[in-house]
Order: sequence, then C-alpha cells, then structure tokens
Amino acid sequence: MLVVMQKVATAEQIARVVEAIERLGLTPHPLPGATRTAIGITGNVGAVDSRPLEVLPGVMELIRVTKPFKLASREMHPADTVIEMNLPALPSGSRLTIGTPTFTMIAGPCSVENEAMIQQTAEFLLGQGVRLLRAGAFKPRTSPYSFQGMGREGLDILKRVRDRTGIGIVTELMDTDNADAVEAAADIIQIGTRNMQNFSLLKRVGQMRKPVLLKRGLSATLEEWLMAAEYVMAGGNYQVILCERGVRTFSDHSRNTLDLSVIPPAKKLSHLPILVDPSHGTGKRDYVPAMALASLAAGADGLLIEAHPDPDHAQSDGAQTLSFEGFAQLMKSLHALAEPLQRTMM
Ligand code: PEP
Ligand code: MN
Repeated sequence: MLVVMQKVATAEQIARVVEAIERLGLTPHPLPGATRTAIGITGNVGAVDSRPLEVLPGVMELIRVTKPFKLASREMHPADTVIEMNLPALPSGSRLTIGTPTFTMIAGPCSVENEAMIQQTAEFLLGQGVRLLRAGAFKPRTSPYSFQGMGREGLDILKRVRDRTGIGIVTELMDTDNADAVEAAADIIQIGTRNMQNFSLLKRVGQMRKPVLLKRGLSATLEEWLMAAEYVMAGGNYQVILCERGVRTFSDHSRNTLDLSVIPPAKKLSHLPILVDPSHGTGKRDYVPAMALASLAAGADGLLIEAHPDPDHAQSDGAQTLSFEGFAQLMKSLHALAEPLQRTMM
C-alpha cells in the first residue's frame, strides 16, 4: 500500500500518517518526491485496512501495490531513483549521481593485489574522468585454493588510496562478520552474485546507509533479483543499484550469458538504477567493449568494468580484464555514443 500525500501536506501531517501506520503494527517508508511525499507501507501479510489512513488530514489517496517487491517497484515510486554521492575527488559543490540520465563508470581490478597497483589504477581512472574504483579485498572464488583476496589489509589499502586521491571505493562484502570493516572502507558496498540470496547479508546491508550494488544471481529471475533488492530496502536502505553480470545458460562461447534483455523489463518494473558488468558477463576481454556499448544503447545507467595495469599477470579474472589502453579506447567510444543518446557520462 502507498499513501500519497497532497502537495500541500505539512511535515506534521506526514508525521501523523507515519505514526498511524506504526499504530497498525506496520512499517512506514516516507518517500519524498519532487512535488509531494508518498509513504510506502510494508509489513502486512494480508490487505491493509485503508480506512484509518484515508481520513487523516493531508492524505490524497491510497494506492494498492500489486507487486511482491513493494519498495523496489515503480508502482510505489514512479520516478527513476537517482543516487547522489559526495566524493572528495569531485570539484566542491558537485555530486556524483547514479541513475538516469547519467551514465556512471566504475572500473578497476578484480582484486586488490598491492598498494602500488591500486594507487596507479586510481590515478589512471581519475585521469579518464572515472570517480569510482572497484576492487575486491574479499574474493568469492570457485576454488578454495585460488587467491582469496587480501582481506582487511586490502581494505586498508583501499582506504589509504581513497584518502590520497579522493576516488570513491566500490568493494565486496561477503559475510556479516566483516560488515563494519567493509562499510567503513567503501563508498558503495558490492553484494556478489553468489550472495544475491544470502538473506542475513541482505538484511545487514539494509541497516547501512551507503549505496549497495546488488549483482544478479547466477540463475536469478528478475523477480528474485528485485525481491533481493527488497530485502535491503525493507531495512530502510533505499540506495540499491542493480548490476547485471551475466547468467548461466547452455552457451559456452562466453563465461556467462550477459542478459541485456533484462534492462527494459527491469526499468519497467523498478525505479532502481541498473548497471552492467560486461567483464564477468563475457569472461573475455575482447568481447567487453562491444557489450559495454550495447549496455549503454540498451538503457543501462552505467558500467562496472575490470581494468588492470598488467591484466595478463592479474591474480584473478585477468582474461576478462582490460588494459589501461583498452579502457581508454572504450571510454572514447562510450563518450561518442552517450552524446546522441543524451546520457551524461560520469
Ligand atoms: C567481481 O566483481 O569481481 C565478482 C566476483 O563478481 P560476481 O559476483 O559478479 O561474480
Ligand atoms: Mn572479478
């Protein structure tokens, strides 16, 4: 259920509706909009009795939300969600945004390997106009014998590079044990494919107040993915960014099958921004540029790309990782395509 307030509703009238929802044993989610505030209601098992709310001053109408993912649905929030971030690397007064009409780039190595390569990557990316660096300190590897990431030491490296350069950090949280440490180091917390339905982890990041990049599960339907986003939002963290990274199919010409066809329905059903990761989506660096451009054309709100100073010697995912030269080339093509599509590159 969604309570839509009148344009002229006062803060006090909104507070009274919030209290009335709580008195019914339900959870209110105030959603301020450009012209009016709406208040989402969750926590009900059956239908909500709308009568005690309808009569309150300042209430315009009550709308039933039919989708099981309430807060993530467009029914609840018709306008696109745009996440705004303050980063030290930005000129003062300006903010980084993720969501239509901006097209936001996140790039960097699969893993934190040492401080010099993270520093070098940050400087390169800032020179390319990219303000968000991705790199995992905790790595979810298929084999227990593969490099598992530098852990806490990797987080410390990310923090120091952030302090020195001002670049924003996107890094993965794999388990609730490290939640505080990752939250302190990250500007955006990545939830990996293999954890898309780790409900304790989703509830934990729902308590945070930093954006969450939620990768699509290896075999997740769009509805399951949006229900995972709903777990985070139900905790009061509305800053969820979806990330398509390929799903498992019968195809073996690429590591995964990058499902760009999920973008239009995701946009139709949800107001959340959606990024694409063509690196994991294809698994081969030669295929990354074509799918990156296709993502922009298909309506994605940005990209997550693996790039490394020496990809052939990367500790993880080297085969799908672009060199700096390859990344710079791709940035040129993206800028050229973004203009006619009226997207602002960030
Ligand atoms: C990654 O981003 O390096 C990663 C492990 O991604 P995914 O969870 O999509 O496999
Ligand atoms: Mn990787």
